[in-house]
Amino acid sequence: MNNFHDNRERQFEEYLRDGVTAAKAGQRRLAQSLLERALYIKNNDARPYIWLSATTDDPREQIEYLEKAVAVDPANAAARRGLALLTGKIEPQKLMPEGAGMERGSLPREVEANGKALSCPKCGGRMTFDIQYMQLTCEYCGYREAAPESKTQPEEAEQALDFYVPTTRGHRWAAAQQLFKCERCGALSLLPPGQKAVECSYCGANQLVQSPEHEELIDPQLIALMQLNEQQVNDLARRWLSKGLFSPDGLFHSNSTLRLRPAYYSCWTFDGVVEARWSCEVAEGNGNSKRWLPASGVEARFFNDVLVSGVSALPTRELDRLAPFYLEDMKEFKPEYLAGWPALLYDCSLSDASLVGREKVLRKLRPELYSLVEMGREKRNLNISGGSWSGLTFKHILLPLWIGSYQFQGKEYRLMINGQTGKIIGSKPKDTFKQFMALLSILAMILLILLIVWIFAGNSGLF
Ligand SMILES: [Zn+2]
Ligand SMILES: [Zn+2]
Repeated sequence: MNNFHDNRERQFEEYLRDGVTAAKAGQRRLAQSLLERALYIKNNDARPYIWLSATTDDPREQIEYLEKAVAVDPANAAARRGLALLTGKIEPQKLMPEGAGMERGSLPREVEANGKALSCPKCGGRMTFDIQYMQLTCEYCGYREAAPESKTQPEEAEQALDFYVPTTRGHRWAAAQQLFKCERCGALSLLPPGQKAVECSYCGANQLVQSPEHEELIDPQLIALMQLNEQQVNDLARRWLSKGLFSPDGLFHSNSTLRLRPAYYSCWTFDGVVEARWSCEVAEGNGNSKRWLPASGVEARFFNDVLVSGVSALPTRELDRLAPFYLEDMKEFKPEYLAGWPALLYDCSLSDASLVGREKVLRKLRPELYSLVEMGREKRNLNISGGSWSGLTFKHILLPLWIGSYQFQGKEYRLMINGQTGKIIGSKPKDTFKQFMALLSILAMILLILLIVWIFAGNSGLF
């Protein structure tokens, strides 16, 4: 029985290999007959279908073959990508040349960007997105405009990674400084790469930045709206500064230097399935007869909303410390939400971010596997030798933060606040006198205990 199975398997692989060789050599008839023979032996493998699609120029036939390939192996990246290309979901001219990469130096240094001022249709005053009323609001006459309705559910925004990673878009990031021209007053200013909304530093108009570079990028799909206004984050930051055992007394009062600015940051989230191959050594026997035997296996895991920062100024590990964010609460992105709220688009490409995301998934999986595999036995050298990934999807989202700094005794300290929950991370100066006193009191305590022990021991006649 087994032999029969092995033979069929071998024959399938032989037909497939010869078929692929013929297809590559342009011998289409031969390729077709070999690949069809392979399918006659086994029809649940995607590869013959994928190669059959290369033996015809008729797009309808190509689509048919690739649909069959996806049907037997839904995770097959080559089949999905081919199908996306043929059905127009990927534009061929945006496809990355095979083996090509984007060089940091190959992108433009500076681009010209224009502003689109958001001004009141009634009085021409400055419009800002009011987070309390969830409306665009004129700062002068109070005119309000309803926020655009959002229909997309977060799950619907997920896009297949396979459709983007092979395109240049999946490898681009915001790299050029933007020579920004204000629509209102015409003043020129230089904006960092990826800045998408800005307040003109000359006339104060709130504007959306329209840069040719942004068209090369993947648009944000969802936005987690800012929940905290300036007053609220100031109160939170003050309270945070006054807390802590070793906080200098002056810290709370000296925070007139505290500056907090809001910003939306581009982030990526990833969903999918990983099958991780693991290996380790398991102990058998005890004492002298103990031996280490090799063990290995595959463990599959779903993962959901793995968050990766898209902006290098905010490393993913800091983003993780600011977590959680309520990702279920996001709205479909509309540029109007950025009126009066600066936003930074990503300078870390989707393809780079997806690698960071995969690393994060495997890092989290390791300790889980450690307790799970070969349960109850002594193990060592647990190793995850990589995973195979399927069903990968991503979302490009904007998350709200307040970024701040304050000074103390001539030194600057940074802090960041989660714009949804108010969670703060940052550095604080330590009062060295307070620390010294704490150390002193611990030493005094130890001395006291020694003294008591000595007296007790002395009285009971031990010495
Ligand atoms: Zn107005
Ligand atoms: Zn201006």
